[in-house]
Amino acid sequence: MARRRQIYEGKAKVLFEGPEPGTLVQYFKDDATAFNNQKRGTITGKGVLNNRISEYLMLRLGEIGVPTHFVRRLNMREQLVREVEIIPLEVVIRNVAAGSLATRFGLTEGTPLPRSIVEYYFKSDALGDPMVSEEHITAFGWANTQDLDEIMSLALRINDFLSGLLLGVGIRLVDFKIEFGRLYNGDDMQIVLADEISPDSCRLWDIHTGDKMDKDRFRRDLGGVEEAYQEVARRLGILPEGGPRDLKGPQTMQ
Ligand code: 5GP
Repeated sequence: MARRRQIYEGKAKVLFEGPEPGTLVQYFKDDATAFNNQKRGTITGKGVLNNRISEYLMLRLGEIGVPTHFVRRLNMREQLVREVEIIPLEVVIRNVAAGSLATRFGLTEGTPLPRSIVEYYFKSDALGDPMVSEEHITAFGWANTQDLDEIMSLALRINDFLSGLLLGVGIRLVDFKIEFGRLYNGDDMQIVLADEISPDSCRLWDIHTGDKMDKDRFRRDLGGVEEAYQEVARRLGILPEGGPRDLKGPQTMQ
């Protein structure tokens, strides 16, 4: 079998050349890293679950008109995506104080924020993803003010929609990280949601118990990482109990 050309290998995913021009295959690994690669491990089955969860969330976002790079899932670990020019920013949206925000401002984890906060970090492993302002972003040419308006508006829409969707299955969307890319069509350029949305890139807390259902279980050695990811998929109705054909819709919680 001909080997596909690998375009990029990241911490949790590999990108291969896609079957048609302008497409890529995104392969989800079980590898997990934290603290800028200082902690490494494997979460068995994570790639399969993240592939499904990200597919589900991108499809739902697509249905409300949020443009995404997602085309279709190919198999357990791979999805076909449009090739985009990645904007080198990690866009973090926060609803509740946690993680680096709680540390930076001495806030108690779990304190609701007066309104959602959007932050930008420059994507650079070598520099440890430093936080940047709109001034840095425009001055260094990573995006212009129009791009940033679009990114901010999409980020807030995505946050509103996902917060509601997850709340419906008993999960609080505490914060999450997304990435955007530029999709070119002739002279037109559109900013689209890229990368993935999964428990690797979100903080997800059970609304009743406050239990963490995300990568913080790995980062903070809390155990039960696979089970937490599975529970997110189960609640979204995308973890088949009787085999892959037995797919149910989301389980609405009171
Ligand atoms: P914090 O800044 O509190 O560490 O992270 C905020 C949110 O963004 C968390 O949900 C975290 O999972 C996500 N996040 C921040 N940086 C990264 C990153 O480099 N990779 C991934 N997968 N998620 C990130």
